[in-house]
Amino acid sequence: MYLFKKISTLRQFLEHYRNKNRLIGFVPTMGALHEGHLSLVRQSLETTQCTVCSIFVNPTQFNESTDLEKYPRTPAKDLTMLYEVGCHAVFMPSAEEVYPPGLDTSVNLDFGALAQPMEGRFRPGHFHGVAQVVKRLLDIVEPGRLFMGQKDYQQFLIIRYMAEALSLPTEVVMCPIVREKNGLAMSSRNQRLSPEQREQAAALYQALRHASRWAEEFPPREVERKALEQLHQPGLEPEYFQLVDGNTLQPVEDYESPASIIACAALWTGGVRLIDNLILKG
Ligand code: AMP
Repeated sequence: MYLFKKISTLRQFLEHYRNKNRLIGFVPTMGALHEGHLSLVRQSLETTQCTVCSIFVNPTQFNESTDLEKYPRTPAKDLTMLYEVGCHAVFMPSAEEVYPPGLDTSVNLDFGALAQPMEGRFRPGHFHGVAQVVKRLLDIVEPGRLFMGQKDYQQFLIIRYMAEALSLPTEVVMCPIVREKNGLAMSSRNQRLSPEQREQAAALYQALRHASRWAEEFPPREVERKALEQLHQPGLEPEYFQLVDGNTLQPVEDYESPASIIACAALWTGGVRLIDNLILKG
């Protein structure tokens, strides 16, 4: 495994693969890696010929400076994990390398209704930061495939939309959510929770599972109400729980007309914000 901190040397390395028409797979991350990240790397290793994983805590996607400061960082452990899984190259750039003074890296794309609900509502500006860093990294790595987690479903839709809108030569692949034994979706942020808080946070997944059952009996708004009611317990502060169209992210009114339905939720526990989702249809 090779570790690159500079764009120029990473591109030199990738040139060998490109010259031989090898497919390059790319997994962007913010580090503090866990099995969820590794599942993306494995999927890339299985379906491409060269896997690049980036580790970069992107300042432009944090809407609260304390969240950025508290974001877990475990670079040595991350490198060991990537080495053991067989990743070919790791890109760990500095902020100056990604955002050199004078270079306009902003993405001027209107994500319309995709960016407005849920994460867009509670984290203003977040998706523009995400689009900015992913576009910049795609310009650097130029992968044939980009691997993203279903865990951040809205992010996946936005990046897929960007790839299509800008005609990028990259296929955006969604990978399933990897969970702890108790159902809690793996997340770097879980590291900031105590074992008790992790147990309690599993209520998020339980509410999603219940919602999938309730959907057989109750209309969407009623399912959302019941789920939020279940999540309103001491120690948990739910932010939203929504049943949305899996393509447009607009609230669903019934279960028949949309081709895809997804339940999405966010909550705070122990000062940590967690998100999760479950595909109900499609
Ligand atoms: P992050 O480091 O949180 O920015 O995540 C990097 C990538 O890993 C994103 O595409 C996430 O959606 C994905 N990811 C994070 N957690 C999980 C998980 N539990 N299962 C699958 N993919 C995940």
